[in-house]
Amino acid sequence: MADNIKIEIVTPERYVISESAQIVMAPGTLGEFGVLPGHTPFLTSLEIGKVRYKDAGGHERIVFVSGGFAEALPDKVTILAESAERMEEIDYERAKAAYERARERLESRKENVDYARAQAAFYRAAARIKITDSGGTLH
Ligand code: ATP
Repeated sequence: MADNIKIEIVTPERYVISESAQIVMAPGTLGEFGVLPGHTPFLTSLEIGKVRYKDAGGHERIVFVSGGFAEALPDKVTILAESAERMEEIDYERAKAAYERARERLESRKENVDYARAQAAFYRAAARIKITDSGGTLH
């Protein structure tokens, strides 16, 4: 069995990562799951949150994902997300501004607010902030 699996994270805009990993952890809708080389194939939807993996050199990496889908094969994990950024790419101030915008929308009583959309934006911003605040700590 191979020592590594390939991990690819793709959005409609770009390839976010395409790398070798020793292990991949992802926020499945039914809970966080881990994939090691040789894993039984499966397909799942994802929550807003972080994908973490150990790269071929043993370094922990974190990528924000806005939900989406993951396909695990014995030698590859593919993640399709509407948006995703490597931790180092997250613009903290932008996430803070998005968080405040979404919070104000959720708190307002205006009729023209799309609450589901504001809620999703709020969760995305909160996850980006949390990932950055964790500074790479994996828990
Ligand atoms: P915003 O309101 O700031 O656009 P959003 O949650 O609505 O936030 P998304 O729809 O998830 O944004 O993403 C749109 C694009 O902007 C994607 O390419 C995503 O990677 C990028 N993006 C969004 N927020 C950030 C951020 N804080 N840092 C880096 N890239 C971001």
